[in-house]
Amino acid sequence: MRTLVLNAGYEPLAVVTFRRAIVLVLDGKASTIAEAGEPVIGPGEILGRPSVILLNRYVKVPYRDGAAVTRRGVLRRDNHLCGYCGKPASTIDHIQPKSRGGGESWENLVACCLRCNNAKDDHTLAQMGWDLRVVPKPPRGPQWRIKELERPAPQWTEFLTHAA
Ligand SMILES: [Zn+2]
Repeated sequence: MRTLVLNAGYEPLAVVTFRRAIVLVLDGKASTIAEAGEPVIGPGEILGRPSVILLNRYVKVPYRDGAAVTRRGVLRRDNHLCGYCGKPASTIDHIQPKSRGGGESWENLVACCLRCNNAKDDHTLAQMGWDLRVVPKPPRGPQWRIKELERPAPQWTEFLTHAA
């Protein structure tokens, strides 16, 4: 059972265990704004089990670089659909081929089906006469900063869409 922690501005900040969340609430550092599951029996009282808590004071988040570029991340960003033909993709392709100086960046990598990947090989899009169906960009949104948000609890949904 995990709890989503929202910053005082309602921006998703972290995911913690519900025990940690209860400590924050009892210490007066956060307020429960959504509950789920069975209540927790504490020493002197019965507490709702927090599903989402809101920090009472705004926490400044140090600037972090965007998500690291990974094969899995590129496939996830592109919904596992080929950037060239739109069919299900299982590989990624360097849009500007590595042999021509193309880098390992979010902008230069795209999900790609095997068929397109084999056909394109070391060619540029211009040589192939192909267009991209998407504009590859670094992914944004809290689910890319907070790993646990890849599989969010149902109660979190409304708080995640506000932040996206
Ligand atoms: Zn394809």
